[in-house]
Amino acid sequence: MPGASASIAAILVYERMFYTDRVRAEYREEPCKVALNRVRGMAFGWSLNPYMGCVHRCTFCYVRAFELRADRPSDDRYGTSIRIKVNVAEVLRRELARPSWKHEAVAVGAATDPYQPAEGRYRLTRSCIEAFVDAHNPFNVITRGPLIVRDIDVLQEASRRADVSVNFSVPTLDERVWCTTEPGTAPPRQRLRALKRLVDAGIKAGVGMAPILPGISDKPELLREVVQAAREAGATHVWANLLHLRPGTREHFMHHLAEDWPEEAERYERLYARGAHLRKDVTGPVQAVVAELRREHGIADRRRTRLAPPPEPEQLELAL
Ligand code: SF4
Repeated sequence: MPGASASIAAILVYERMFYTDRVRAEYREEPCKVALNRVRGMAFGWSLNPYMGCVHRCTFCYVRAFELRADRPSDDRYGTSIRIKVNVAEVLRRELARPSWKHEAVAVGAATDPYQPAEGRYRLTRSCIEAFVDAHNPFNVITRGPLIVRDIDVLQEASRRADVSVNFSVPTLDERVWCTTEPGTAPPRQRLRALKRLVDAGIKAGVGMAPILPGISDKPELLREVVQAAREAGATHVWANLLHLRPGTREHFMHHLAEDWPEEAERYERLYARGAHLRKDVTGPVQAVVAELRREHGIADRRRTRLAPPPEPEQLELAL
């Protein structure tokens, strides 16, 4: 099919721009019926995923757990077949126009990377952002993809109309940890260069240090390296989360851990023996180090130009 081979060729161009290793996947163009998903038990109430599956194929990816629950492969096959929701922006526009829609904030990319290579060809994330712009709807993007710099123009316009923020996932700058756990992503320093471009353009953009891996990427010197580099790039905020392992992610991660850090395997079995989340006495000290580094490096919103929506008109009190 000539159209499909042209699409794949266009995706390869973007892979060559940002990625050291080539990502090979099957791309399935399948329309969707619904764009916005209701989310419960997370920090956000709505999510939007223009793609399903992610060619970055991180070993710790929590989406593997969703895949297992949906009866789809969560092992090495995850990320080898990507669904392209070709009509997602059109469906989103209809949903945003409903009288019942309350203009709540939407998390873009909670279950996929919205700036993975396919976005270079399909531009679905960009089209969705344009829909948010027209609807003056707040949203936040989470990504590991430097391709986002292509969309600085629409992100600027969106930031003038509603609350917008971008989070770059940068759990570590350590070369070995990155290559081993994120086989398909662009180098972390490229993400930070992209972050700087966004902040310089007036867009709120920070770093999510997630997931931090106990005993592997939680060493104080590694945490310091990320916070310092985030500060140099102008990050408006930095947050951190430690690894959690739900069924689906757990088997896959443990399998790779036993190959890549066999000395840690037993400890991880103990740490995650009681469930998906680490105990507070394990997460607390790491969060405390990151909090101290944030303070020490003065992480704050230092944008020279702060694009923001106009303030809400104040309610005038009537003199009675
Ligand atoms: S980039 Fe995000 S969505 Fe993609 S594999 Fe990695 S963790 Fe999963």
